[in-house]
Amino acid sequence: MIGVKYIKMLVDDIHSASVATIDENGHPQTRIIDMMYYDDKGIYFLTAKGKKFYSQLMEQHYVAISASKDKKAVSLCGDIENIGSQKLDIIFEKNPYMKEIYREDTRHALEVFRLYKASGEYFDISNPAHIFRDEIIIGNAQSDNAGYYVDNGCIGCKLCYSKCPQKCIDISVKPVVINQSNCLHCGNCFEICPQRAVVKKGK
Ligand code: SF4
Ligand code: SF4
Repeated sequence: MIGVKYIKMLVDDIHSASVATIDENGHPQTRIIDMMYYDDKGIYFLTAKGKKFYSQLMEQHYVAISASKDKKAVSLCGDIENIGSQKLDIIFEKNPYMKEIYREDTRHALEVFRLYKASGEYFDISNPAHIFRDEIIIGNAQSDNAGYYVDNGCIGCKLCYSKCPQKCIDISVKPVVINQSNCLHCGNCFEICPQRAVVKKGK
């Protein structure tokens, strides 16, 4: 697992996230779902068996999750599995408000899902002049190193730097180097480069 501190932030601090699935017409559908718990095997959330969301999870086994607070965002896409009532007691202990929603013995309507293989990112614009992004990996998901990179065709003209909103390109070397942690993925460098030396990778 890479980026545990961001997963902890998602579950313990932000807590409520937008979770996307696909509806019966093939369109994206979102709803707010609480991220209840995490451990070294993934992130856990739950829903009631009577909901359309439950049926979509059981059919699709895949979700996209986004959440933000104070200009800091966590986004993840990946595979989920239904683990039935496993972790339900822990989840209710950790989130006591659930005992008020599902009182007495009514919690049997709920089943737990685990996001066990996912990739995504943490994106922080709380300091707008110096944005920060970092990778999150759960399970054996692969990183696609998405972003802009400069190849050996670079002639060091610095045009990319002049158009970079975050000035996150090291122009003291040739080829110049994009600092991936501070890059907005805006594409200005890609568009302006006269040598086509800026390469776009990943999703
Ligand atoms: S614009 Fe292209 S050639 Fe010029 S410094 Fe940037 S990457 Fe190198
Ligand atoms: S994609 Fe945008 S922010 Fe990133 S290095 Fe290029 S110009 Fe700068």
